Amino acid sequence: MKTIFEKSNNVDGITLTDEPANVTFIDKSFLRNNPAGIPQLGELEVLRHYKELSDKNFCIEKGFYPLGSCTMKYNPKVNELLASLEGFASLHPLTEDEDAQGALELMFNLQETLKVLTGMDAVTLQPAAGAHGELTGMMIIKAYFDSIGDNRKKVIIPDSAHGTNPASAKICDFEIVQIASNEKGQVDINALKSVLDKDVAAIMLTNPNTLGIYEENVLEISKLMHDNGSLLYYDGANFNAIMGHTNPKLMGFDVVHLNLHKTFSTPHGGGGPGAGPVAVTEKLKDFLPVPVVSFDGEKYFRNYNIKNSIGAVKSFYGNFGVLVKAYAYILMMGKNLKEASENAVLNANYLKEKLKQAFDLPYDVPCMHEFVLSGDRQKQFGVSTLNIAKSLMDENTHPPTVYFPLIVHEAIMIEPTESENKEKLDEFVNVMLKIAKEAELNPEKLTSAPHTTPVKRVDETQAARHPDLKFTE
Ligand SMILES: *Cc1c(COP(=O)(O)O)cnc(C)c1O
Repeated sequence: MKTIFEKSNNVDGITLTDEPANVTFIDKSFLRNNPAGIPQLGELEVLRHYKELSDKNFCIEKGFYPLGSCTMKYNPKVNELLASLEGFASLHPLTEDEDAQGALELMFNLQETLKVLTGMDAVTLQPAAGAHGELTGMMIIKAYFDSIGDNRKKVIIPDSAHGTNPASAKICDFEIVQIASNEKGQVDINALKSVLDKDVAAIMLTNPNTLGIYEENVLEISKLMHDNGSLLYYDGANFNAIMGHTNPKLMGFDVVHLNLHKTFSTPHGGGGPGAGPVAVTEKLKDFLPVPVVSFDGEKYFRNYNIKNSIGAVKSFYGNFGVLVKAYAYILMMGKNLKEASENAVLNANYLKEKLKQAFDLPYDVPCMHEFVLSGDRQKQFGVSTLNIAKSLMDENTHPPTVYFPLIVHEAIMIEPTESENKEKLDEFVNVMLKIAKEAELNPEKLTSAPHTTPVKRVDETQAARHPDLKFTE
């Protein structure tokens, strides 16, 4: 397919007037000497070009998207509609509080709702993603220990953690102490005890963890940490599994981030804006970034009066459109949020039981919203997990997350989400069983996949190390 530059045929677009533009008010030094190299095409050609491009993309509206750890569920379009209402979408971020009462009320209510869902006492909506929430949370933890004159340097992170966890702690100058998981895929309590000393500021935990397994000793862990004067950080990326059933406060956590773009209705793919609100307990609330949205009984306002605030972590107040979608989603779901979690867990267990006949399942236990297979059995025929993932693309299915978490060899991490029905799940099972059979009988078909996509195999190392993003003729 040609680029839009190559398609350019020098047809002018809309002409509003024959008069040359009057640009005398612009300083000459700002004017171009040569016309900009903008493609010239009629409107219909432009529409066809972008439609053709978009048809080459895979998206949730096209097929199944079992991307573990990312929660690529279907999000009702009505939430997009609400976020695009003019009063929300056109509101200038520098508007005075008194002229933005509706937006502030929405943010305040969302803060209150997230307090209920997490069990926590105060919330900031500023962070723009989960990783940004982690960074904010670690800065809060650092500020807390500074305030009590305790210079703790270490943060404990299990080997199953998402890579952003150690990255966030490290940026805050903490030293990372990794602990191994036990044979159940959970935190090894003895390993934890062996590294616990008065230099440990916190542990970062994901629960259910990245294997989709609930940490059954979470209460013992939180007691151990608190008895040691340490804090607990909850990575809420897997919140889809527990909404309304339990919460991080009940588990003993002090700080939590949520990924609104995973759990609460914003498409996660495509690199669009996200939101990673952070919720904290009473004792950390004076460290939140400014401003938080407060209510004085009459008016909503941006509150900069936070005693030990770590300062702003984002321009203005975060990604407002994402906040609107999350709030709309939560209001519409109401108590059905609880049911959404139940269905997410049911769907994952259904797939796990069906697929374990054909694929290795290193941790064969009831899972939460996702589970991790291993491609080891197929490896003996020369078919890797990468080949399996590429083959799924030929079957109108987005590949699952692969090679994560790192503790599972040839990992295939599957999260069906609550929004798929049984027919779709069965279709996926059939596709996976077909691929498992092909691995034995016709491995070359899989090792050379994908066969039907617009782009075949890319050189991933080259693409990452030498990205060439500029079109030159
Ligand atoms: C997605 C994810 C993150 C990071 O969240 P982003 O919003 O992508 O920055 C952190 N931890 C886990 C377990 C995740 O799945």
